[in-house]
Amino acid sequence: MKNNKNKNLILKGIAASSGIVIGRVFLLKNYDIAPIDNIRIPLSERSREVRRFHEAVVDTKLEMNETREKINKALGESYAKIADVHLFMLEDPIMIKDVTDKINKGISAEYAVYDFTRGIALSLEAEKDGYFKERAADIKEVSKRIIHNLISKKGKTISLEDVGKNSVVVAHNLTPADTVSMKEKFVLGFATDIGGKTSHTAIVANGLGIPAVVGLANISQSAETGDEIIIDGNKGLVILNPEKEILEKYKKEIKDFTVVKKELEKLKDLPASTIDGYSVEVFGNIENPNEAASVLSMGAAGIGLYRTEFIYFNRADLPDESDHFDACVKVVENMNGFPTVIRTADLGGDKLADLGLLKLEREKNPFMGLRAIRLCLKYPDLFIKQLRGILRASAKGKINLLYPMISNVDELREADKILQGVKEDLRKEKIPFDENIKRGIMIEVPCAAMISDILAKEVDFFSIGTNDLIQYSMAADRVNENVARLYDPLHPAILRFIKMIIDSGHNAGIKVAMCGEMAGDPFYTPILLGLGLDEFSVSLSQIPKIKKIVRSVKIEDMKEFARQILQCGDRDKIEEIVESINLSEDKTDV
Ligand code: PEP
Ligand code: MG
Repeated sequence: MKNNKNKNLILKGIAASSGIVIGRVFLLKNYDIAPIDNIRIPLSERSREVRRFHEAVVDTKLEMNETREKINKALGESYAKIADVHLFMLEDPIMIKDVTDKINKGISAEYAVYDFTRGIALSLEAEKDGYFKERAADIKEVSKRIIHNLISKKGKTISLEDVGKNSVVVAHNLTPADTVSMKEKFVLGFATDIGGKTSHTAIVANGLGIPAVVGLANISQSAETGDEIIIDGNKGLVILNPEKEILEKYKKEIKDFTVVKKELEKLKDLPASTIDGYSVEVFGNIENPNEAASVLSMGAAGIGLYRTEFIYFNRADLPDESDHFDACVKVVENMNGFPTVIRTADLGGDKLADLGLLKLEREKNPFMGLRAIRLCLKYPDLFIKQLRGILRASAKGKINLLYPMISNVDELREADKILQGVKEDLRKEKIPFDENIKRGIMIEVPCAAMISDILAKEVDFFSIGTNDLIQYSMAADRVNENVARLYDPLHPAILRFIKMIIDSGHNAGIKVAMCGEMAGDPFYTPILLGLGLDEFSVSLSQIPKIKKIVRSVKIEDMKEFARQILQCGDRDKIEEIVESINLSEDKTDV
C-alpha cells in the first residue's frame, strides 16, 4: 500500500455503471485543478528555469497562431480575430515580468505561472461586470496552455495512454478528450470527484461494461497511484486500501456475479419478445467506430445511436469530409446490413472539443448554449462536411440520420435545407448515396416534447434523449452531483413527457426509440414497455439485461402497470409500484 493515511477509506458516491472490480489506482492529475507542486528552485538553476518559462511562452504562441490559422480557414477572419485576445495576453509584459520575478525568488516556473494567474483571475472574477469575468477565463486558458507546455517538456504530463494493466482510473473528472486516448483493455473501472449518472464518465463506463462511481467529492485528493481500490458500481461505493475482510467479501461477490453474467450471455441471440409475443428492438449505443465490431455479437439489432462528436476530440485540426466518411464506413461495414443511426455532431455542453473554435465560444451556461444542432447551424461548413461524409457512407450500408437537440420546427427545416443542398451537390458530382435515407430527431428538450405531435409529422422517427430531457425538465445539471437527487426518471413530469412523445410518434405512424441511459437501466424496462416504447438503444453491456426483462413479462400487464403509474402523482408511490414488479437481476429465470 502506498497510501498509509487512507487505509480502508470508504467513500460514497453515485453509482454510474454497475459491477464490482478490485484494482490499482491510476491517478489522472488535472493540472487545471490540482495545484501544481510548489518546488523550491535552487539559486544555481533559476536562470535555466526562467529560460524554460520563456520557451514555454514561445511554444504556446506558436500553438495559438496555428489555432488562429485553423479558425481563419474554417470560419473566416472575423472569428479568427477572437484568438488575438489570447495572443495579446501571452505577450503581456506585466505577466512576463511578474512570473520571471517569482522564478528569480526560487519559485518553479509552473507554480509562478499558476500563482500569477490565480491572483489576477480571482480579482477579475470578483467584478460584477461579465466582461471582466470573461477575461478571467481567458487568462486561465492562456496560463493552462503555458503550464501544459512546461510540464510536457519535462515529460511529466500523464494521460490515459500511460495507464497500466488492472488500473482503476481516479480523476477529478474525465472529459471526452481524456478518454479518447485511453488504453481500454487495461482499465477496470472509474472513480471521479464530480459527475452524475449521465455524465461522460458514466456513458463511457457503461459502453465499456466496466463499473464506475462518480460524484465522490475528493477522491482525486485522497487516492495515490498504486493504492489498492475496490469500485462497487452497484452501490456507488469506493474503498481505498481495503482491509482483509472487506476484500474477501468483495472477491466472493465478483465470483457470484461472473456466474450471473454467463447466464445473461445466453440471451444475446434470442429476440426481445414478451411472453405473449409482443416484440421490441434492442439496439446498441456507440461512441467510437471501433466499438461497432462488438455490437452484433452482443445481440443488438443494429446501432441506435452513434455519437459522432468523438471524432472532433484530441486532434490538431477539424475533421474533414473524408474523416467523417471513413469513420461512418468503418461502422456500417461491421453491421452486415443492420441499421445504424448516425447522430450529427452534438458538440457543446460538456462535449467541448479541444478546438480553438469551440473554446472561443466560451459560454457561461454551455448546456443552455450553442450546442448540437444549434452549433451546426451556426457553422454550416462544419455541418456540411459531416453530412457529406455520412451521406457518402450511406451507399455502403443502412444509415438513418439523427439530428440532436431540435427545439422547434424551424431548426429542423433549416437542417433539412442544408441536407437537401448536400444531396443536390452529391447528385451533381455523381457521388452515390442513399436517396431514401431516413432522418429522425432527438427529443431531448421539453419544448420539443410539448410539440412532438407537430414534429412527428415532419420526420421519420424519434429518439428520446432522456439524459438531456431530464436535465432540462428538472433544471438539474446532469453532471452536477449536488443536484443528482433531482435528476429523476420517475418524476411524474418525465413519465408524462415520455408518454406524450411515444403517443405523438405513434399517432403520426413513426417509431419511437429511446437512447438515453434510462433505456439501458433494467429497472425502467417494464414501465417503458408499458408506455409503448418501440426501440431501446443502450450501452452494449446492458443489451442482455434488457432482453431478459422483456422476455419475462406480458405486454398487457405492463400496459396496465403503466396506466396505474401515470395516474399516480406521488413519486415515491411510483417507485413502490415499479419496485413491486422489479424483475432485474436475480428475480427472473433466464
Ligand atoms: C441523451 O441526451 O439522452 C442522449 C442520448 O444524448 P447525450 O447523452 O449524448 O447528450
Ligand atoms: Mg443528449
